[in-house]
Amino acid sequence: MAGPKRNIDTSVFHRAPKTKLRTAVKGDGPYILDDAGNRYIDASGGAAVSCLGHSHPAPIRAIQEQATTLAFAHTGFFTSNALENLASFLTSEAPGNLTRAYFTSGGSESVETALKLARQYCVETGQAQRSRIIARRQSYHGNTLGALSAGGNLWRRAAYEPLLIGVTHVAPCYPYRDRGAHETEADYGLRIADELEAEILRLGPETVMCFIAETVAGATLGCVPPVPGYLKRIRDICDKYGVLLILDEVMCGMGRTGTLFAYEQEGIAPDLVTIAKGLGAGYQPVGAVLASERIYEAIVEGSGFFQHGHTYTGHVTACAAALAVQEAIRDENLLDNVKRAGSWLAEGLNMTFGAHPHVGDIRGRGLFWALEFVADRATKAPFDPDKKIAARLKATALDHGLICYPMGGIIDGRQGDHVMLAPPFIVDDGH
Ligand code: PLP
Repeated sequence: MAGPKRNIDTSVFHRAPKTKLRTAVKGDGPYILDDAGNRYIDASGGAAVSCLGHSHPAPIRAIQEQATTLAFAHTGFFTSNALENLASFLTSEAPGNLTRAYFTSGGSESVETALKLARQYCVETGQAQRSRIIARRQSYHGNTLGALSAGGNLWRRAAYEPLLIGVTHVAPCYPYRDRGAHETEADYGLRIADELEAEILRLGPETVMCFIAETVAGATLGCVPPVPGYLKRIRDICDKYGVLLILDEVMCGMGRTGTLFAYEQEGIAPDLVTIAKGLGAGYQPVGAVLASERIYEAIVEGSGFFQHGHTYTGHVTACAAALAVQEAIRDENLLDNVKRAGSWLAEGLNMTFGAHPHVGDIRGRGLFWALEFVADRATKAPFDPDKKIAARLKATALDHGLICYPMGGIIDGRQGDHVMLAPPFIVDDGH
């Protein structure tokens, strides 16, 4: 049989069973160490998770204390101080009227929750005919069926297509490939945003429930910030037609772009924002949806019950860990470091790869950067259309002690060929 042999020395159902994995045994600041004594700089935080670096004492202490006093209490019976305090922290930091926090165990669950909150809001407010979801091509919102339906990564969707719910997709904001030669960034942003209006009109505005987009497009598109004015126009269009705006900040949120929420930099606020990854920084699996008071009130004044929940919703130890992570980020002024280290990283990437014949674009914000690879800078032809090189790049980087996040292949008939960097907020120029 062609290809590498299967691992026979494991009973784990690994996601890539033919890839021989190294065994991670220790985390130390920005590094992960394996059992062979190799040290890797975690320059992608796994997948933009480990924002505080590894083995930070604050969440470790919080986990120990919380697990010793009360590890878990089901939210059908109890609230807890950890849950209340984390919700207060997040809602007081979130600009806009995002006054309520609902906790989950991760990003996909947060997206499912946001979609269901949007639906229940429509039902509770006498708009039961609103059920349609509009999302963007080349997006990623998670792997559970609702979140996968919203996502526009055709490679991830392919096998499951018959199981997915109908979501329609409009263009992402992707100026490197889609901005016209004589178009300003602002004009481009308005043109692309107006695709949403056209889609709402095509579907019938009274049937559309929500629009979901990543504020800064993450893994599938590769760290693409919105052009100025794009999200403002999106907000206006949603308001005009009574469509809820969900911003997915599972990857780009919680300080990754230099502000706690990436939408802060766009001068707008969504109706719902999803967060995860950097919320618990990998110390515990935890995510959240922040909802506007309007959505919360509609449910409280309507049926009085959110018809959704999981056993581990508001997990006490997970919330305690997340609060400790967020307090450490605040107390150590790490968002200032995201901006400082982010500008060194941008400078370094541009100096090193700016003229490279196979690097078409270098883009990002804060400590969230990607290089897009091309076969030819003039034609922007794909470098790795058959997705053969990404795995090799990942393996070679690991051989050199670097953890980065490559994505190859053609996605949605378009280029999806980049490597993503999302180092921890504690990095300095030495690292
Ligand atoms: N949304 C976005 C924007 C993501 O990047 C991801 C994961 O990469 C998810 C949702 C899904 O999160 P999780 O893998 O924690 O379920």
